[in-house]
Amino acid sequence: MTLSAPVRRTTVTADVGGVLIGSGHPVVVQSMTNTDTANAEATALQVAQLARAGSELVRVTVNTREAAAALPEIVSRLAEVGLQVPIVGDFHYNGHILLREFPEAARLLAKYRINPGNVGAGQHHDANFATMIEVAKEYGKPVRIGVNWGSLDQQVLARLMDENARKGSPKSGTDVMIDAMVVSALESAEYAEQLGLAHDKILISVKVSSAPELWQVYRQLAARCDYPLHLGLTEAGMGMKGIVASSVALAPLLTEGIGDTIRVSLTPEPGASRKLEVEVAQQILQSLGIRQFLPQVTSCPGCGRTTSVFFQELAQKIQDYIRDTMPAWKARYPGVEEMQVAVMGCIVNGPGESKHANIGISLPGTGEDPRAPVYQDGKLLTTLKGPRIAEDFQDLLEQYVERRYGAAAANV
Ligand code: SF4
Repeated sequence: MTLSAPVRRTTVTADVGGVLIGSGHPVVVQSMTNTDTANAEATALQVAQLARAGSELVRVTVNTREAAAALPEIVSRLAEVGLQVPIVGDFHYNGHILLREFPEAARLLAKYRINPGNVGAGQHHDANFATMIEVAKEYGKPVRIGVNWGSLDQQVLARLMDENARKGSPKSGTDVMIDAMVVSALESAEYAEQLGLAHDKILISVKVSSAPELWQVYRQLAARCDYPLHLGLTEAGMGMKGIVASSVALAPLLTEGIGDTIRVSLTPEPGASRKLEVEVAQQILQSLGIRQFLPQVTSCPGCGRTTSVFFQELAQKIQDYIRDTMPAWKARYPGVEEMQVAVMGCIVNGPGESKHANIGISLPGTGEDPRAPVYQDGKLLTTLKGPRIAEDFQDLLEQYVERRYGAAAANV
């Protein structure tokens, strides 16, 4: 069954190094490196890994002169391996200095992230912010006004707290903080436009770490502006907790058409690959019917009818095979990402689910005949048996892709 994608909230379109972000374009998946940007080799390697996993923009922190100086080498290393992924610079505290001192970095970055809470206090705040906007104008770059609840502009918060205290029925402290984050983002965007930055060169994010607060913030933002919105739960956490928290936080907003680019901020397990956050972001969009990235594998949870691990192993193997093979398939077989594959544990729901998939296998449950019927486009194709069921099914899958999507490629 194909889900229909939610109707998007209308926005202008921002061009970030050739990647178009806004309601007229698919929701963009992005991620961020955790290497020391000054280490050009390690950073280029991780950017490449994230881009190959499907990250359409990759952000790097630009926190020191060494980091800014490393950007040309990072970009040229990526070009050497044929990767053109736009690189976004994340600036805090010293962005106004680094962007002026390192014009090549300013030229190569596709977008600058500016946190209005971290551009300097008091009289320096506006001047530092203005310098970054001047550089963006000079090089024709978009900026993301990226507010974060952990570094909220204290002047805006204090002003709104004072105004709230004078009201007859004041709002709660949390509500005032949410208002302050939205006001900080929108006033900063307005100031950037007063300084001459074009309306379609601005994206906005306001990140918090709790799902209900995120919904409140983004619904306010969505109602009050038509800038493209970068959506993400900040500090989502590690492993299962981070994945569930991000999915729960992003899904309602995306379903309402709010969010034009997303990032899932997962803390990786020690030594684990950073690309999990890209895979989770893709899976969130895919589960909501917003974008298709790779064939969907439907597998049942298994129960007392599947007492061997063979079923779980096959489901895992087919899923991994599809993910690993997808880059090659995508280049050769247009539309393959729409394919549905079923790997089912027994005859109770196996044949039915397999018939609804493009190709599906129903394994023998405990005590059943050791035979595995394979259905293709709703019809019984063959029945596999013996010790090579897994390998044989993989071969049938490969043949199906070639026949079904190879023909589409020939007609393009
Ligand atoms: S399809 Fe069979 S093995 Fe899978 S959950 Fe249903 S009854 Fe259990």
